[in-house]
Amino acid sequence: MDAQVALPASIKTRNTGYANQPPLQRFLNSCYQEFRGDDSGAVADYIPELKKANPAHFGIALVTIDGHVYEIGNSAVPFTIQSVSKAFVFALALEMVGEERVAAAIGVEPSGEAFNSIRLTNDNRPFNPMVNAGAIACSGLIHQVDGAGAFDRILAKLSQFAGRELAVDDAVHASEVITGNRNRAIAWLLRNYSVVLGDVDAVLDTYFRQCAVLVTARDLAVMAATLANRGINPVTGVQVITPHVVASTLSVMTSSGMYDYAGEWIYRVGIPAKSGVGGGIVAALPSQLGLGTFSPCLDSHGNSVRGLKVCEALSARFDLHMLNRSADVRTCIIADYDIFGISSRRSRQPHEQQILDEHHSDVRVIELVGALNFAAIDYVTRRLANEPPNAPLLLLDFRRVPDITAAGARLLGENLAILGNLGVTAILTGFEATSPVSEAIRARTAEVQRLRRFVLLDDAIEWAEDQVIYRHGGFTPVKETSHLGEQALLAELSADEIAALAGLSAARAYESGQRIIRAGESANSLFFLQRGLVSVKLPSGVRLASLGPGMEFGEMAILEPLRSADVWADTAVECLELPLDTFTDYCRLHPQIALKVMRNLSALLAKRLIVANAKVDLLSAY
Ligand code: GLU
Repeated sequence: MDAQVALPASIKTRNTGYANQPPLQRFLNSCYQEFRGDDSGAVADYIPELKKANPAHFGIALVTIDGHVYEIGNSAVPFTIQSVSKAFVFALALEMVGEERVAAAIGVEPSGEAFNSIRLTNDNRPFNPMVNAGAIACSGLIHQVDGAGAFDRILAKLSQFAGRELAVDDAVHASEVITGNRNRAIAWLLRNYSVVLGDVDAVLDTYFRQCAVLVTARDLAVMAATLANRGINPVTGVQVITPHVVASTLSVMTSSGMYDYAGEWIYRVGIPAKSGVGGGIVAALPSQLGLGTFSPCLDSHGNSVRGLKVCEALSARFDLHMLNRSADVRTCIIADYDIFGISSRRSRQPHEQQILDEHHSDVRVIELVGALNFAAIDYVTRRLANEPPNAPLLLLDFRRVPDITAAGARLLGENLAILGNLGVTAILTGFEATSPVSEAIRARTAEVQRLRRFVLLDDAIEWAEDQVIYRHGGFTPVKETSHLGEQALLAELSADEIAALAGLSAARAYESGQRIIRAGESANSLFFLQRGLVSVKLPSGVRLASLGPGMEFGEMAILEPLRSADVWADTAVECLELPLDTFTDYCRLHPQIALKVMRNLSALLAKRLIVANAKVDLLSAY
């Protein structure tokens, strides 16, 4: 098939011009071009009104789970949904009356017979909800709850799936009411076995109306994408149905969705689908896409000829068979390290740094990435179990994890509970208050001892460092004040030289929360912190460093004309500010001071570079 085929203006797609169409749009265009010439099959005629369908109509729509709509041809032409409704009404029945009551009324076995077969199972239930008997039973269950309001309930649900208000084709409805004697027979048979209760005609009318709901190929694609997206309509963002009901619905679509072609279909195409005699097909590939096609000519099984071809071509071309999946769980860990050479951005006092250097393996950091399922978390737990001894502080980073399955969260919770009992403190990062991943994990880790949660990795590493320092007896309250001689930038200067610089500086005081330096301003002074704590932050809020007494900031002014970051007072702060021009003038008279300061500055920068390089090295190793 030629994916580059040029299209006549009449079938220009609504979404994109020709110049830069994504490959999937081009592929759908080429399907449209190739299959529109296939005139085989026949329009359904057993409901007289359906005979009026235009056999030339052909529309394709594909909706991704991020809500992008691809469409081509007559994707906006309305037609009646017919049996495609059965999948969605089954979902509604499950939601309304629960699995048990549905199972008591309707089976889930493929019947191997035509959609309108009157045969029931040995225990007198419809074989499954995708044949007429099962669908009528579903309408009956909803009717038991809602009575005369049953159809409105169904229409509202179908509309939610489609993301717009749907309506009924009254002519098709009336036509089926007149000719639907076979369905009437099925309904009375079900009434006889008490599968359908109450007013049979009202139940039947609910069913006939549901089949006469007007949809477009685009609607079907959105409906399918909602199933593919665990019940959330990707266009409207509305949670239409629970993930559990979605799985039940896709199951019966897989085994019985394509009439008596269901086995062949799942073998060849491998995507849960449902078709209807109006010419529509929905196909939902979980977590990937929803497809809707419309073309009224049907084959001998009752499936749309062209729609079938589109599905087959799409599946074959992009290898979409649902059972042909591959995933390497090992990609879920992008980094696994201890804190050797890696530190939080809090600058430590020398004796604290020494403890951290000696006990770097006390903190293990595992950075996770991607959607995590049962198999991925199992891999993580084995990786933790295989490499004893356990670090007493285990940091699991979820910042790059957009999703975790319920099974994955459960396995994680169990593993953290075991580690907690062994004395390991687990620290989880990437925890936003409202994210679904955080909620899923929080629910499964409520009982875990010693668990800590942080938003930022850096804050978590800082906390873990504090624990290491504390456990090894090095925890001293942050130094209150410092003498200028302790500044690393002024190392090797004589007492007189230091006194001289102090004399050239002005004492400054700031309140907690005050900004001391603003990024972008001209850099014309250096600061020596004597009391309190400051943080150096980028304007985005990312912290570059936290500093305490005895540390300098703004020292880059010696090299750069503009401030590159903000500096904020985290507590009440006292410091000395040395104007750059005064310093430069003084250095001109005392070049040996300039030499020492520049050497000290180079040493400070070299240290930062070494830390930065260690991080680059660490991440490129994965
Ligand atoms: N309303 C149609 C019937 O019950 C639906 C059949 C179908 O689409 O399979 O006969």
